[in-house]
Amino acid sequence: MKWGLIGASTIAEQFMIDAIESQQGNKVAAVLSGDAERGQAFANKNGIGRSTTDIDELLGDQSIGAVYISTTNEKHYPQAIKSLAAGKHVMCEKPLAMHIEDACEMVSAATRANVVFATNHHLRNAGSHLKIKELIAEGRVGEVQAIRVGHAVYLPPHLHGWRINNPQAGGGVIPDIVVHDADTVRFHLEEDPVDVVAIERSESLGKNVEDSVMSIWQMPSGILVETHEGFTVRHAGTSYEVHGTEGSIFARGIMTQQPVGEILLRRENQTEVQQFSGHNLYHRAMRLFMEAIKKGKSPSATGTDGIKSLAVALAVKEAATSGQRVKVNYGGT
Ligand code: NDP
Repeated sequence: MKWGLIGASTIAEQFMIDAIESQQGNKVAAVLSGDAERGQAFANKNGIGRSTTDIDELLGDQSIGAVYISTTNEKHYPQAIKSLAAGKHVMCEKPLAMHIEDACEMVSAATRANVVFATNHHLRNAGSHLKIKELIAEGRVGEVQAIRVGHAVYLPPHLHGWRINNPQAGGGVIPDIVVHDADTVRFHLEEDPVDVVAIERSESLGKNVEDSVMSIWQMPSGILVETHEGFTVRHAGTSYEVHGTEGSIFARGIMTQQPVGEILLRRENQTEVQQFSGHNLYHRAMRLFMEAIKKGKSPSATGTDGIKSLAVALAVKEAATSGQRVKVNYGGT
């Protein structure tokens, strides 16, 4: 199948062109950029046949069966709606949209068009996170009581653009990272946060957007989730802890794009290192996306998963700005 890239982005260049083309018979055929010169340079550098600045031209190409949308966040919604109307399968970057109603409309449009619509939440594809899900499901920690997510990192300088200064483009650490943490916790616990409290800060990088946030979420079962997301923390590394009545999982370095990190399971006085698969996260997401098209299976993260992660992030933002405890609005999903 031929693919169109909507957005000449860093993530497309670093991970997704490779992931798409890792699937047999798949090839990126065209790229859309807002800037003709940049688009052409991107196409040349990445072995893509052609570039365009006209989305209708790209979507009018009947040989293109699917698109990958990785523009800045405010563009995902209009570009996805157009792509779905043109009958393309869509792999869309997170956050799906700026507003929950728009994300819901994207998922409805995909259903009407009878195409696959997926959200690119990579973490649930990691061997580490699959292992944690397995440990929880096998009861190795007993009844889960709490999860703590440490996802405060230093944003690499080459990404110090719209993410740290442009709220209209969806900048800020909440739309960027809270969505991933929400998806990961939902994936492990198979339940959706009910309400949240949060405090945000613009410490050093953020101009008109937050660059740090801490929040607490309550799950329907009563489990508490505590998260810390940041763009300014240089030395912490990432962490993910699951605490239960029979044991605790301590994972480090697993909130990342690479298949790395370590997981320890502590029960009574014993600590066991857990082994996990080192496969490429994005390759797995694309494999499941292709299976969804060919075999009618579910992609790794569906559009509904994207609605839900966005809903949690929007609730965290509202809680942080209002100082109130906020009920998560899933838009009826
Ligand atoms: P980039 O800033 O690299 O790209 C976003 C847009 O900015 C591009 O579409 C491009 O516009 C423009 N742009 C890129 N580089 C330049 C440049 N050098 N000069 C001028 N304009 C430029 O963003 P990311 O790749 O980091 O993120 C894109 C999307 O992907 C976001 O929605 C983000 O949330 C998501 N993302 C997801 C990840 C995941 O693992 N799931 C990881 C990283 C990002 P144009 O297309 O018009 O040329």
